[in-house]
Amino acid sequence: MPKAQETVLEIDLGALAHNYKTILSQVPENVKFMAVIKAYAYGNDSINIARKLEELGADYFAVAYIQEGVRLRQAGITTPIMIFHPQQENFDQLIENCLEPSLYSDRLLTDFIATAEKLGQKDYPVHIKFNTGMNRLGFSPKKVETVFERLATTSAIKVHSVFSHLAASDDWQEREFTLQQINTFRKIAARFVEEFSYEPILHVCNTSAIFNYPEAAMSMVRCGIGLYGFGNDKEIDKKLKPVGTLKTLISQIQHLEEGETVGYNRTFKATRPSRIATLPLGYADGIHRKYGNEKTGVLVHEQFAPIVGNICMDILMIDVTDIDCEEGDQVVIFGEQPHATDFAAAGKTISYELITGISQRVTRRIIQA
Ligand SMILES: *Cc1c(COP(=O)(O)O)cnc(C)c1O
Repeated sequence: MPKAQETVLEIDLGALAHNYKTILSQVPENVKFMAVIKAYAYGNDSINIARKLEELGADYFAVAYIQEGVRLRQAGITTPIMIFHPQQENFDQLIENCLEPSLYSDRLLTDFIATAEKLGQKDYPVHIKFNTGMNRLGFSPKKVETVFERLATTSAIKVHSVFSHLAASDDWQEREFTLQQINTFRKIAARFVEEFSYEPILHVCNTSAIFNYPEAAMSMVRCGIGLYGFGNDKEIDKKLKPVGTLKTLISQIQHLEEGETVGYNRTFKATRPSRIATLPLGYADGIHRKYGNEKTGVLVHEQFAPIVGNICMDILMIDVTDIDCEEGDQVVIFGEQPHATDFAAAGKTISYELITGISQRVTRRIIQA
């Protein structure tokens, strides 16, 4: 077993390529692929992920905020980048960096037109977002005609795509609601196609929808979590490979007598003579306190070791009484095994929150394909 050097998040670009190709094979031939790489590519190092996805042929990137897009441009990424949630005060910077805003309200549309006109733009690419039931961001479907009126007043911007976001594409119990959202969007899309002399790109599908509602692929899909190896479903997970593996090493092993306790507030009490291993990562690295006190565990030499006691800021402890291991040995927090979906579930959350939460303090190590 190779000795680990420090806590690292290994990023397997071969797994990324596998996931990209697997998901692409789910969508019809000429559907465009938007790779969602917000939040540091879901914690996986957005620049290296973006470079690999460019090489693989992704048509579009999306991030949440302008600064995320600026960083990608500074790293030399040239693929179109959509900004899901741009903030008005940085519109100049957005245009300077050739980033493309999602415009989801009257206020934003008006302000963006003003900035584009001020900077002498013509046909600057924008994306119009409609709210079809998520009730988060988006124009009301009733606003379609108002949007057309506003667009008719300027030649500074051009609608490259029209889209909406599904609230429960991973939940079969909400199938009826999802179909209703898709249907509402289809009507909006039809009006756009009718109104313009060209057809903007139309898109509603996130990862779960790509698998669960393939008939709704339209002209582009927006894929995030699937690229990183998770599908919100056991069957989909089987087809994908986790890109990130969080590894660390044993700093020290403590030998406890029965009745001794571990960590802050003494929440673990040894019921037998025990060996407790200390690991150099904690809640400041994104392994939150909710995973402590035997809610879940990690793998040491492929054997399960429960996390015991309260997780500390920089440190956590595991029970290795039944495992043959020593200081310096490697430990896997999550990856193929334990699967991040299961690890997250033990903390009553989802893979998205776990993987995006691994802090920047953790070294990322890129494994080339
Ligand atoms: C984050 C996000 C996505 C990606 O969703 P996944 O479930 O990770 O595929 C797609 N569209 C929008 C608007 C998003 O905010």
